[in-house]
Amino acid sequence: METLAGVTRMRLVGGNLALDYLNTRTGPPVGAPDDDVLAGYPELVAWGSYAGGLSEPEAKVLRRLSHDDPDGAQVAFTRALRLRDDLDEVFRAVASDRSPSASVLARLRDDEADALRHARLDRGRTFSWTWRDDASLARPTRPVVHAAVQLLTTGALDRIKGCGGCRFLFYDESKNRSRRWCSMDDCGTSEKIRRYVAARRTRAAG
Ligand SMILES: [Zn+2]
Repeated sequence: METLAGVTRMRLVGGNLALDYLNTRTGPPVGAPDDDVLAGYPELVAWGSYAGGLSEPEAKVLRRLSHDDPDGAQVAFTRALRLRDDLDEVFRAVASDRSPSASVLARLRDDEADALRHARLDRGRTFSWTWRDDASLARPTRPVVHAAVQLLTTGALDRIKGCGGCRFLFYDESKNRSRRWCSMDDCGTSEKIRRYVAARRTRAAG
């Protein structure tokens, strides 16, 4: 089982809160995930705080709430995992140029409507949705849902891609849309080593 520390070792390479949320599961590019840092509600809160969806005071309130209402926290956590499955389906479809199912898009709409019902419009440089008044157990996933819908409605869909070496998804912000890896330090480096070894083998054989 992952620990709370496991959450803060996750690499935030998605370039978007919703994609980073999907990337809490690791594994090969296709097939089943082989690890998951979201082991329970405490990890969900820790992730939210680490990834920037929750402030530390908000996380503190949620830790107290979940402690007082463990059943409610379990329900919220189950919903959070369902949301992750839904977002996984949606963004993996988009990344491979397929259309997500109508049913998953309808659930995302319902989740967004619910998130906005608990949001307020705050003025900064522009107005934006915040969840400062929402001290409910569903709070950690609100900004995730909204980031997902924002990306789908205003992002460049062809920039949503899957890593060539693992199951991570990311938003490719490179100028010529050439990004292939979640990070050069991990999958990018493994690929370079693999190519180098293959080339050396070819040279040795020749
Ligand atoms: Zn990768």
